[in-house]
Amino acid sequence: MTEPSAMPSNFIYDAVRADVEQGKRDGRVQTRFPPEPNGYLHIGHAKAIVVDFGVAADFGGICVLRLDDTNPETEETSFVESIVADIEWLGYQPADVRYASDYFQQLYDWAERLIEKGVAYVDDQDGAAISAGRGGFGKPGVNSPYRDRSVEENLELFRRMRAGEFAEGSRVLRAKIDMAHENMQMRDPVMYRIRKVAHHRTGDQWPIYPNYDWAHGQSDAIEGVTHSLCTLEFESHRPLYDWFLQQLEVEDAPRQYEFARLELTHTVTSKRRLAKLVMDGVVDGWDDARMPTLRGLRRRGYPAAAIRNFCREVGTTRTNSRQSIEALESYVRRELNTTSQRRMAVLHPLKLRLTNWPVDERGEPVVEYFEVANNPERPEDGTRQVPFTGELWIEQDDFREVPPPKYFRLSPGREVRLRGAFFVTATDVVKNDDGEVIEVLATYDPESRGGNAADGRRVKSTMHWVSAPHAVPLKAALYERLFTAEAPGEATGEALDDLNPDSRKVVDGWAEPALVDATPGEVVQFERLGYFATDLDQVMLFHRTVGLRDEWAAIQKRNG
Ligand code: ATP
Ligand code: MG
Repeated sequence: MTEPSAMPSNFIYDAVRADVEQGKRDGRVQTRFPPEPNGYLHIGHAKAIVVDFGVAADFGGICVLRLDDTNPETEETSFVESIVADIEWLGYQPADVRYASDYFQQLYDWAERLIEKGVAYVDDQDGAAISAGRGGFGKPGVNSPYRDRSVEENLELFRRMRAGEFAEGSRVLRAKIDMAHENMQMRDPVMYRIRKVAHHRTGDQWPIYPNYDWAHGQSDAIEGVTHSLCTLEFESHRPLYDWFLQQLEVEDAPRQYEFARLELTHTVTSKRRLAKLVMDGVVDGWDDARMPTLRGLRRRGYPAAAIRNFCREVGTTRTNSRQSIEALESYVRRELNTTSQRRMAVLHPLKLRLTNWPVDERGEPVVEYFEVANNPERPEDGTRQVPFTGELWIEQDDFREVPPPKYFRLSPGREVRLRGAFFVTATDVVKNDDGEVIEVLATYDPESRGGNAADGRRVKSTMHWVSAPHAVPLKAALYERLFTAEAPGEATGEALDDLNPDSRKVVDGWAEPALVDATPGEVVQFERLGYFATDLDQVMLFHRTVGLRDEWAAIQKRNG
């Protein structure tokens, strides 16, 4: 049980706290996270996971993972496995893993009970007729001609549906509530459909499958869920959720609470749209580093702790809104700043040659080794040796033959610091036949070893570098937003219209030798460039997780 002062403050916590204080359901708290195993989890699901598991943990209760597997057409075991693994990666351990399909028999028995009570009936209308009969907003529906069948006839037909005697789409079981109800969900909702499709767990055992509304609340009740937390689109389903439990006379019935979905700028969080990006080959797969799936974010280098903190701290409300992706990025940066090792890498290389660099007795250039802190924020991470010679790689951006105003980096005649090494002054350039600078010539000051001049003179710029003969090659994937628009699809109704065609650029660069020790998934800070995640599969491929500049702070300042 978390200290009340350390708990988030929101309407869900208020409701749960009140129940616990009043000793409802013996003060027990049990939640569930109920994904449909038809795709990979995304950042929106992370929000639901943090709420579901967080509430349970904060009140000393438990949270169960329930796979909501009532749609056999779209569900697969491989999705189940990925969901279980991704929840664990995010840092949560379900108290149990359950499946709605575990309850198919109980749900069936309960459906018979509703038929016996006269509050459910078999309807022979097809889907189109049922849909037309439901009416619309402000327009009452009409009763099905089959609504007043006898209990005996309904029972017989329902049993024959279950026995597989009828064709798909020929009959459904419906709850008998009120075709004129102001809430469309209450207009005799469908409870069962005939589907002659094999299920990934129950195989061919069932030719009928329960609908979401019939499966969900009853599964909650079977498991002993106390607080069923879901997103706002289910608000209008709540009266139905309660109605079913009332009809079944469930004691201590679970209660449903709805909160706003998490949406992010420049991001889509709909499985259907994400699936389309994969199908169309816009991205490499569900785990592409540009995808907002947990697998994508992980490959990109987002720490699970940053995602958890963000989801917890953006708050849980009942108002839909879009959070800035820059806010999430600032949680990522904050986390990585303390955890990641610093390395030097050059991603747009330009050769820098020190013309006064000494050679040894054999005529070979001297090699100096500088001892550099792995992470100045964490002395316990130790230091490493970084080699330095007279032939170096620097960033193309760090040199201008003709410097524009306020450009303080290297240019002919200008002195700068090579971080932790020496002061250097550019003297000349070497050009190719097209007139492009391919090499910068410079002299170094031997009296500035370690990056500080003996006479105390100052320079305006410090640049990173890599010793060319020691450099290891790397590939870096540089990312821009996958969608150019803040609210993808807002203008045209189709999010994919706002795709950024240049969301990834892969460059070849050079890094200091220590980078080869980076382990798959490890995120390192390339000095001055940003945080980069070591690919999970490909050696020496690095994904730019996020840049160093806190754009979120700038946005907040701008907005006052
Ligand atoms: P999608 O719309 O991406 O297909 P879904 O809601 O159909 O998602 P489910 O597998 O049914 O996906 O969702 C499991 C749980 O995650 C549900 O409780 C749902 O409310 C929650 N959830 C899904 N998307 C979000 C989101 N963007 N923000 C918060 N919770 C979400
Ligand atoms: Mg859903």
